[in-house]
Amino acid sequence: MVRLVALFAALGVSGGSRPPLATAADPPAVLLKPDRVFDGVTAECYPDWVVLVKGGRIAAAGPAGEVHAPKDAEVIELPGMTLLPGLIDAHSHLLLHPYDETPWEDQVLKEPLGERVCRATVHARANLLSGFTAMRDLGTEGAGYADVGIKRAIDKGVIPGPRLLVTTKAIVATGSYAPRGFAPEWGIPQGADEADGETIRRVVREQIRGGADWIKVYADTPHGPGPGSRPAFSLDELKLMVGTAGDAGVPVVAHANTKEGMRRAALAGVKTVEHGAEGDIEVFRLMAGKGVGFCPTLAADEAMARYAGWKPGTPEPGRLRSKRETMRAAIESGVAIVNGSDIGVFAHGDGARELELLVEYGLTPAQALRAATGAAADALQLGDKLGRVKAGLFADLVAVAGDPTADIKALRKVRLVMKGGTLYKRP
Ligand SMILES: [Zn+2]
Repeated sequence: MVRLVALFAALGVSGGSRPPLATAADPPAVLLKPDRVFDGVTAECYPDWVVLVKGGRIAAAGPAGEVHAPKDAEVIELPGMTLLPGLIDAHSHLLLHPYDETPWEDQVLKEPLGERVCRATVHARANLLSGFTAMRDLGTEGAGYADVGIKRAIDKGVIPGPRLLVTTKAIVATGSYAPRGFAPEWGIPQGADEADGETIRRVVREQIRGGADWIKVYADTPHGPGPGSRPAFSLDELKLMVGTAGDAGVPVVAHANTKEGMRRAALAGVKTVEHGAEGDIEVFRLMAGKGVGFCPTLAADEAMARYAGWKPGTPEPGRLRSKRETMRAAIESGVAIVNGSDIGVFAHGDGARELELLVEYGLTPAQALRAATGAAADALQLGDKLGRVKAGLFADLVAVAGDPTADIKALRKVRLVMKGGTLYKRP
């Protein structure tokens, strides 16, 4: 029970106001003996470390001679492997699947909710088994509060999946989102909740009542005569959103591609900015100064380019070339880069692609790993629970063959996945 209550607290769910759930017996102590440990903080691996897991948490981590396991502990040898904190993706969509399978609009308008939820359960499992033990899911895109139910099913052990932070329906300015392009006399359902001015308070509070751990706002979108994205909310509206959510202890995350959308979001007090296609050094410095994290979603950009006909290995389209410049500015600015991929636009289970691209776009492998572990946990305000191999934190751990600080592609060879001390995959 203690473990479950702590888990809910970690995920922003108040244990006091929600009914208690079934308890599970704590798994027995486990001693993990890899070749090396990446702790989620440092650039180096520790070659002689072992990790002891007890009661769902990391009981000890350190040199083999200094960690004393109980006699009955199960010893799991991990030869040739690196043990690292469970990976975190701060931008996922469990209720979407790749747009080259089914266009976004058809998923939103034509797939029944039951189908979408069934697919999401498969997605959750694929992500967990590929090493992602926590995800922040940034909008159900027409599937209402389905993410809240999926999170509960995972927490109850009904289906395997990562720990989830959910945003429910997300918020867009009236007329600024999609599906779009229909005759104005038809009221077409939208992929997010519309709100403006004073109605922002009500919509934020409704989503929080429905179970939102974070509020997601589309600070800019392609609306108006175009082309390209334009700011959708005023600075005052964004401040109202952040203030209303903040009163409930709920942080806000902003989708923003324009420099002005990013600037307003940062000034309003959001905690992370997503995509940032037109970000430059000035706006990234503003974000860095305000402690706003940046999720670049490189893998989604790459996927969208492929869906538009680009073949990897041929000259990159302008959108990808300019994203490289954006990343150079972000790295130079010192803004906290957080692993957030927009998975769902591309295949669930392929989350390692974002880390590979972070390295291709200029981070060292250790920096990319930190963006998906310690830095991601900090950005999600869970740094004292997740993202590091450290005594007291949840035993969310992954072992991969090889050394991902030398070659990030080692993340493709996941051999062990543990979440809260429970093994979901083992050698
Ligand atoms: Zn997204």
